[in-house]
Amino acid sequence: MGLLIKNGLILDGTGSQGFISDILIEGDKVVQIKQNIDAAGTEIIDASNKVIAPGFIDMHHHGDLSIMEINKAEASIMQGVTTLVVGMCGLGLAPANEKVREYYHNFVKNIFGSSGILYDTIQEYMDAIVKKGVSVNLAFFIPHGNIRFLVLGSERRPANEREIEEMKESVEEGMKAGAFGLTTGLIYPPGSVTSTEEIIELCKIVAQYKGIYDSHMRNEGGDVIEIGMTELIKIAKEAKVQAQISHWKAGSSFAWKLTSDMINLVKEAREHGLKIHADLYPYEESSTSLSYVLLQPWVYDNFKENLTDLEKRKKIINEIFNLISANFLSSAPKAIGLIPKVILRKFLLRYFKKSVRIISVTHNHKIEGEFLGRAIKILYPKRKFIDGLLDFVRDEEGGIMVSMRMMSEVKSIISLYKQDFVCVGSDGFLVKDVNTHPRSYGTFPKILSKYVREKNIVSLEKAIKKMTSLPATILGLSDRGEIKENKKADIVIFDFEKIEDKSTYKNGRQFPEGIDYVIVNGKLAVKKGIHTGALNGQILKHKSDK
Ligand SMILES: [Zn+2]
Repeated sequence: MGLLIKNGLILDGTGSQGFISDILIEGDKVVQIKQNIDAAGTEIIDASNKVIAPGFIDMHHHGDLSIMEINKAEASIMQGVTTLVVGMCGLGLAPANEKVREYYHNFVKNIFGSSGILYDTIQEYMDAIVKKGVSVNLAFFIPHGNIRFLVLGSERRPANEREIEEMKESVEEGMKAGAFGLTTGLIYPPGSVTSTEEIIELCKIVAQYKGIYDSHMRNEGGDVIEIGMTELIKIAKEAKVQAQISHWKAGSSFAWKLTSDMINLVKEAREHGLKIHADLYPYEESSTSLSYVLLQPWVYDNFKENLTDLEKRKKIINEIFNLISANFLSSAPKAIGLIPKVILRKFLLRYFKKSVRIISVTHNHKIEGEFLGRAIKILYPKRKFIDGLLDFVRDEEGGIMVSMRMMSEVKSIISLYKQDFVCVGSDGFLVKDVNTHPRSYGTFPKILSKYVREKNIVSLEKAIKKMTSLPATILGLSDRGEIKENKKADIVIFDFEKIEDKSTYKNGRQFPEGIDYVIVNGKLAVKKGIHTGALNGQILKHKSDK
C-alpha cells in the first residue's frame, strides 16, 4: 500500500518557493507530484496547512555509539531527521582489534552509554545494524581514532612509514565498505598526538575514493584560525580532499571577534577551488565528556586504582591543571600568560566550577543539570573541590557528560549559520535513562522556530535547504535531500506555526512539538506525532563515482 500526501505546501529542498500539491509514494520512492492525485488503495495523509519537506539530514551525530540499543532513534526521528551522519570526531565502534577494545573498554561503555561491543570492521558493524533494523538512515564515516589505535595502540609517538601504510589499508577497507570519508577528533587522544602530515597521508586514500575529510579541529577557541582552520585547509589542499568542519564555532569569548575572519577564510579557500563546508548546532553551550577531555589515556589503564592512589592523584591533578591552563591561555590575549601560575590556577578553578554544567552521569542522576561546583559540594561536602572532582570522576566510572557556554548566538553562531556552505549537524547522542544536551532532541525544530519563524534570520526555504539538499550534495547522495519524482521518499510534515523545540539543559530528553509525520524510505516512522516503531532505515553507501 502506498502513501498519498494531500494538500500540503511542498518545500522541495532546493531553496525554491513552495507550492501546494499532492505527493504519491510507492515502495521507497516518490512516484508522482501533482494536484488532485486520486489513488485508490493508498493511505491518505492530510497535510492541509502544513509544510512538506525532505527528511532532515543531520550532518554530525554520535548515534552510532548506541544505535544497537536505541535502534528507533526517537530523539532524531521525532525532529524530522531521516538520516544521521555518524562515526564523528574520530570516535566509533568500528573498526576494532584488541588494542582498540582495551582503550575503549571504559570509555565507550561508561562515557557514551553504549553496550561496549566493538566490531572488527565497519562492514561487520553495518551488517549487524541491518540485521537489527533501525528507524533512521545512517551514513558512516571512518573514525581516525580507531584506525590509529588499531595500529599503534595508545602510543603517543609519530607513526613510521610501515604503520602509515597499515593505517591507509584500514582507511581503504572502510571506503570500500561504503564509508563517506574519514573523521578526526584532534583535541582527543589519539588525534591530539597525530601530526598533520599523518592525516594528509590517510586523506590521500579518502580522496582517491572521492570521500570527505570531516574534522573536529585541533582548536576551536582563540586559535581556531591559526591552528584549527589553517590545518584543515592545508589537509584539504595537500591531500586534494573535500573537507567538512565539524560543529563549526568560535568556541571561547576571546574567539567571537574572529567570526568574520573565519567566514572569510573558508570563502577564500572555496574561491581557490577547495571544496570546504561546515555544519553547526544552534546552542551556546558546547558539550563533551568531562573525563575524556581531562584525563590522559594512561589513567584508563587502571581507572579506579589510579584515581584512588595518592601519588597518582597528584600526577593527575597536575596534568589537569596543565591542560586547562594551556587550553585557556591558547585562547586568551598574550598578556594573561604573564599572570603567576598559582593565581591563574585559582582563577581557572573558580571559572570551571561555575561554568561547567553536568548534563549526565552514570549513577547520581540527581545532580544532572547542576553546575560542577555545586554538584561536588552536594556529593562530597567535606572534600576540597579538586579532590572531590577526582572522586566524582572515579565514582561515576568516567561517565560524566558536561556542557559549557563557549559560543555566542548574537556575536557568532548566527553569522556562521547564514553562510551558504553551512548545514546543520546536531552533534547529538542517542541516550537511554540519562539526560542529554538539548541539541540531541531540539536542534532542527529550534532552527525552524527560533531562527526562522521568530527571528527571520533566513527564509524557511533556505533553512530547509540547509537541512536537506545541501548536506545531500555534500555527501553525494543524489537520490535524497529533495522532494522529486523518483527520489527516495524521506519526508517530514510539520506545522510551521506550531513547531517548537522543548528540550532544555536540565531536561534534554523532551520531544519537540509540531512535527506530525516522518517518512523514512516510503514508510511512516512518525504518524500524528507518535513514533510508529517502523524500522525502515538503511545504511547509505558512498559512491566514489559521484
Ligand atoms: Zn566533536
